[in-house]
Amino acid sequence: MDRLFSPLQERIDGVVFTRDQFGEEHLTNYGRIHYWKPRFVVKPLTTQDVAETVRFAKEHGLFVSTRGSAHSQSELGISKDGILLDMKSMDRIYEVDHGENLVEVQGGVVWRDLVQHLKRWDLSPRVLTNNLGVTIGGTVSMAGIGVASFKYGSQGDNVHDMEVVTGNGDIVHCSRDENPELFWSVVAGLGQSAILCKANMILRKNKKMCRNYYLLYDDIGKFMTDSEKMMDDGKWDYLESWASPCPQGIKPINGERRVFAKWFYPFHPTVEFDPGEEPNDKEMLEGLDFYDYLYTDDLPTIDFHERMVPVFELWKKAGTWDYMHPWMELVMPWDTAADYINQILPDLPPGLLIGGHILLWPAKGTVSDSKFFMRPEGDNLIGFGILPAVPQRYWDQVRPILDNGSLLGQAMGGKRYLSGYINFTEEEWRMHFGDRWPELVAAKKKYDPECLLNPGFIKYGDALKTEPAGANS
Ligand SMILES: Cc1cc2nc3c(=O)[nH]c(=O)nc-3n(C[C@H](O)[C@H](O)[C@H](O)COP(=O)(O)OP(=O)(O)OC[C@H]3O[C@@H](n4cnc5c(N)ncnc54)[C@H](O)[C@@H]3O)c2cc1C
Repeated sequence: MDRLFSPLQERIDGVVFTRDQFGEEHLTNYGRIHYWKPRFVVKPLTTQDVAETVRFAKEHGLFVSTRGSAHSQSELGISKDGILLDMKSMDRIYEVDHGENLVEVQGGVVWRDLVQHLKRWDLSPRVLTNNLGVTIGGTVSMAGIGVASFKYGSQGDNVHDMEVVTGNGDIVHCSRDENPELFWSVVAGLGQSAILCKANMILRKNKKMCRNYYLLYDDIGKFMTDSEKMMDDGKWDYLESWASPCPQGIKPINGERRVFAKWFYPFHPTVEFDPGEEPNDKEMLEGLDFYDYLYTDDLPTIDFHERMVPVFELWKKAGTWDYMHPWMELVMPWDTAADYINQILPDLPPGLLIGGHILLWPAKGTVSDSKFFMRPEGDNLIGFGILPAVPQRYWDQVRPILDNGSLLGQAMGGKRYLSGYINFTEEEWRMHFGDRWPELVAAKKKYDPECLLNPGFIKYGDALKTEPAGANS
């Protein structure tokens, strides 16, 4: 038995697992790119448990990494020889404040459980990601982007206030007004400054039904023109889109004969309505320049939130859910997005998308206040992602495609979304955060001066020694 097991277990109400007790799922994450073994897995029950765990780590020279559902990739939600805090044990949903439209939750609550809990009052979180199996702490720490983000920003923007434990082991309450620099260091902060233990999340009243229009575009320019209209005209509640290949045959690509595709852009704008107040389809679609209009789907709003479940079930049945997932996602400037997409897609092997897809999201840059969710300048932005499922034996062939896509996207002004496959050098980390890098470093120094929290992903290099202290500097 590990000599630190009993002293740690005695400090907390939750459960401590040693190396002989936890399973494979704690060695890696959805990416399956890195495999690290923690010394302990801790399932905390309370904020106090989290604080005691951090204090214990500090006393014994251990690192503390945090995980929610471990749906990230790269070196996130895993720990090498340290304590891995498995936050899903902090899964309590407290009172709903109907006056303020807020709900208090623990950081390990899974969004699906919250959505199901709230449906009795026709309340929804303002932004939901495609995958509801992830935790509040996990997505707030990343950003959390969804089909309503063009209106409401990221999930992090929709935190009212929170209770966190810093790398110093302090329990601190923060909001936009109270300890704001800590608040904005936790939002999209990858657990670098503090651990989110409780949050009041902002809700909205939803209508009971959704009408989902299945439009198809054959031209990225027309798709962007219409999506700009839709983001601005105030008629739509959700905007979702993809790029889909239609394989055409085989032609020479980069010196070899390969399958090539014509690319289409399915676009599913959606509007909520209450029964008896159905939207007027002609008015909704007026002035749009789509290539085809395939289908209109009326479904309960709760089913709309869960619309991706059949896709994920298919990936599970096909076995691709268990492959490597080196996802390459970018937020592109509006001006260069079409050129970028037109350069990337023609050479992309359609077979890469078995068990995955190409994400394409019109978004607004102006609706987020998040400091560390890095995005290009500009009112309108496009989220683009190559999301493959890769058998380990093909990784060496796939990696250059993703690396090239990442480099070209950044050269054209894009910013990477950090939940995916990231292999930045120290210099690339600085470039990613740009003007925000000194603030990130300063927050780390202030709230986690011994660098206990979530080491191994962001490469700070010497920055922690040389940058000035004080998160506001
Ligand atoms: C099928 C699928 C679909 C997805 N769709 C979307 C999408 O539509 N939009 C989108 O934005 N993302 C999407 N993602 C990415 C996903 O939302 C992020 O990876 C998210 O961070 C996962 O949350 P998690 O609970 O699994 O967190 P984890 O992966 O476990 O952790 C992510 C990061 O958050 C930190 N963290 C976790 N909990 C806490 C906490 N309580 N306090 C402080 N830090 C914490 C971890 O240390 C880590 O740095 C998708 C992922 C998958 C697999």
